[in-house]
Amino acid sequence: METTLRGVGVSHGVAIGEIRHMGTAVLEPPARQIPGSEAPREQRRARQALQAVAADLTARGFLAGGDAQAVLEAQALMVRDPELLADVERRVAVGSTAERAVYDACAAYRDLLLGAGEYLAGRVADLEDVRNRIVARLLGVPMPGVPDSDEPYVLVARDLAPADTALLDTALVLGIVTEEGGPTSHSAILARALGVPAVVGVPGAAELPESTVLAVDGSTGEVIVDPSAARQDGLRALAEQRKAELAAAKDPGRTSDGHLVPLLANIGGPADVEAALEAGAEGVGLLRTEFFALSTTGSEEAPSESSQVEAYREVLSAFPGRRVVVRVLDAGADKPLGFLSPADEPNPALGMRGVRTLLQHPEVLRTQLLALTKAAEGLPVHLEVMAPMVADRDDARAFAEACRAAGVRASVGVMVETPSAALRARALLREVEFLSVGTNDLAQYAFAADRQAATLSRLQDPWHPALLDLVAMTAEAARAEGKSCGVCGEAAADPLLACVLTGLGVTSLSMAPSALSRVRAALATCTLAQCRRAAAAARSADSPEEARLAARAVLSGE
Ligand code: PEP
Ligand code: MG
Repeated sequence: METTLRGVGVSHGVAIGEIRHMGTAVLEPPARQIPGSEAPREQRRARQALQAVAADLTARGFLAGGDAQAVLEAQALMVRDPELLADVERRVAVGSTAERAVYDACAAYRDLLLGAGEYLAGRVADLEDVRNRIVARLLGVPMPGVPDSDEPYVLVARDLAPADTALLDTALVLGIVTEEGGPTSHSAILARALGVPAVVGVPGAAELPESTVLAVDGSTGEVIVDPSAARQDGLRALAEQRKAELAAAKDPGRTSDGHLVPLLANIGGPADVEAALEAGAEGVGLLRTEFFALSTTGSEEAPSESSQVEAYREVLSAFPGRRVVVRVLDAGADKPLGFLSPADEPNPALGMRGVRTLLQHPEVLRTQLLALTKAAEGLPVHLEVMAPMVADRDDARAFAEACRAAGVRASVGVMVETPSAALRARALLREVEFLSVGTNDLAQYAFAADRQAATLSRLQDPWHPALLDLVAMTAEAARAEGKSCGVCGEAAADPLLACVLTGLGVTSLSMAPSALSRVRAALATCTLAQCRRAAAAARSADSPEEARLAARAVLSGE
């Protein structure tokens, strides 16, 4: 029987398929004593599990190729280490189960790595993944991480880490449903970047049995469990119709009376360029370089200058004569990078992240800036470089100085993601040439509401008039200084809100490529004066709902 679950639709489109659950972290197996007679059988189970996991890692390496293959092969070598097997067998011989012996042997191995210098300590996360894989196989529970499947499926998870999503194969993942995560969480952003229909914050999703058929409507936020055949046909037809309607024009972004608002793409690296171009992006408003760092070296090692030059050049050469705004690494909080983020912060979202981290690791920032400069050499692109999580003028000045010292030939800007940056936007503009409002973090910090927490999604609503005030203040400061102020947070992807942001004075909008056509179509239906009236109406409301209704009333001429 069909049932319907509801969450927040965060990436448009319809997906119908069977559930595969994201494997969760393996629990610690109980320390149970087995009789000596069972030891040979347990040792055999352990040996077989080690062999199977090593073979699986090698096979995945072959499939992945490149740097990922090197990482997976190094993990396979850990599993094949004869010392590991010998230790497991010893532990079983004195009464451990196979899974407990693996667990304990890996813990001992881990201590060894931790004590063996920085490089080997960096392999601890790989060892933990290996341990989880072996223990999961022995316990007969799903493998941690992205499921193994040759058939396309709907991925269901409690939440997704950037490291998981960066490796998703879009040929296999039809749709994404998560139990946690809000509209601005990284699972949502990545799903949009991948163009995969997704619904987040769906209570009960993680409990649905494996292989259940789901129909996911990323536009309405509905997740239909066991949909009837008629329902499936209806949803597919609706999805086709929506697609056809939007495939229309790829004109530049403008209001109906010709006020230009460049529509740019948010991308995570070269793999997203094609989708951006296909959707008619007029450039890139946000290149999130940390996703590229994660997908090349994992989170433990800084990507080399040469690998960065290659990737950036691929992106920059795809946009001749256009703007490409590259954000330097935004490590920390929800996007931890092992080589930059401290492991033991009590409150990472309020701790070392973004530009704060980079200013503490000037060599990482300098390498990235040098790579960008080299990548842009001889290309007719308008390169712009910006820093995330800037709190004040000192941050902006330090970033601008780092750019000058590295010989960066690009416009230098900062993101407005903290209330302090919005309040003192004019001061920031004495140091840099442009601003870009990151509404995801600006909401998180303005409302003191963790953007990862589904239960707080009310406070992550970019329609909140308090957030609109902060955007208005920032745009006004940029206007007064004769400089530009874009929005690259998820707010820009909401067609109605895009009109309101235009009315607030924002000069460009950057979003996931899949959102561009809807925003373009919405802007083309209203004049700049209407946008301004809608913005004023939204700001005089007291809640996100009222603001939305007030803006809609103005824009639809009610
Ligand atoms: C934002 O905070 O709005 C933003 C665009 O940056 P990110 O979502 O990558 O933190
Ligand atoms: Mg941000």
